Amino acid sequence: MPKNNKGNMNELHIFEDKSLDFSAVISLKKYGRGPAIGGCRMLSYPTLDAAIMDANRLAHAMSYKAAISELPHDGGKAVIILPKGIANREAILKRFAECVDSLNGQYITTIDSGTTQADMSIIKKYTSHVTGFIREDQPEDNPSISTALGVYKGILAAAKLRDGREDLAGLHIAIQGVGSVGYLLAKYLYEAGATLTVCDTDTKRAKRCFEEFNANIVDSSEIYAVSCDVFSPCALGRIINPQTLPHLKAKIIAGAANDQLSAKQLAGELAKRDIFYVPDYLINAGGLIHLSLQEENKSQEVITEYVERIENRIMSLAALAEQKNITLYEMTEQTVEGLLGKV
Ligand code: NAD
Repeated sequence: MPKNNKGNMNELHIFEDKSLDFSAVISLKKYGRGPAIGGCRMLSYPTLDAAIMDANRLAHAMSYKAAISELPHDGGKAVIILPKGIANREAILKRFAECVDSLNGQYITTIDSGTTQADMSIIKKYTSHVTGFIREDQPEDNPSISTALGVYKGILAAAKLRDGREDLAGLHIAIQGVGSVGYLLAKYLYEAGATLTVCDTDTKRAKRCFEEFNANIVDSSEIYAVSCDVFSPCALGRIINPQTLPHLKAKIIAGAANDQLSAKQLAGELAKRDIFYVPDYLINAGGLIHLSLQEENKSQEVITEYVERIENRIMSLAALAEQKNITLYEMTEQTVEGLLGKV
């Protein structure tokens, strides 16, 4: 039975179905901009509280990402707690689709860690409030391509702002995690003439980057200390934290991972170390832009053009930040909070 716990702007929906060993959480951050959009994670969590915390943090980030990208959406995130020994994935996805449907379009679900486009196609059988499913007419469609393109454009902007660079030729870029986004980003960077160092806990993925892009491979524990121009986190959240901070040697941090800072004040610590930090929700919005514009039946050309605007958005915010003598992070936060009516 769903239990609702409504706050002013935050809405938390908890769904449990013991017969299926099913527990899911949908967190909505509502600012009246439009239906909340955000992925559905299907992962194991030690407790329901841990799942709620993850959903809340990520929904908050989605609301910021949608606002700074000028998309007509609030922030939302769903978590399905992966049952031990999942017996019937379709039954779980069907149950989840019913939960999404019960919110009457306030939340549009999509892919995230642990769910696939094929899962979204199953969910689509039971609710229309889903995107990111397999489109028969566009078999190559993949939002990760847009995320990687946006991060690549963001790195171009950061290199220009930090070091006056017009291109990335000869820059050394260290990528943490070369999965869906990290691999595609590595391809863009390699083609732009950058030198790459990569790590991935899945050694096959790192090896593929060595074979295709001549990337140097380091152990996952060593990636923070690589002396490089750009460190691009593309694996996990909260990887900029008091433990990793002293090791960072990059001039720029710009990557796809959500929720990169373990606490907001770390942005200031990075600035003190003269590390140019591009806020995660500003640079990694390509996938959200892709899914949102697909909802509006926009063409791939329009989607690509919109994603590429991430470069100019970073340049404009950085120019305003310079005028105010604040960091890009502070300027981006202030801008979003203004857009969301928080200030
Ligand atoms: P993914 O699961 O395809 O890739 C992540 C990669 O990181 C995997 O290859 C995994 O083996 C590796 N990894 C995991 N732990 C690691 C560690 N400790 N050290 C090194 N590598 C590790 O995920 P993805 O879709 O590429 O997304 C990457 C990040 O970007 C995630 O944080 C995701 O939330 C974020 N993101 C993704 C998208 C998108 O469009 N896919 C959009 C916005 C944000």
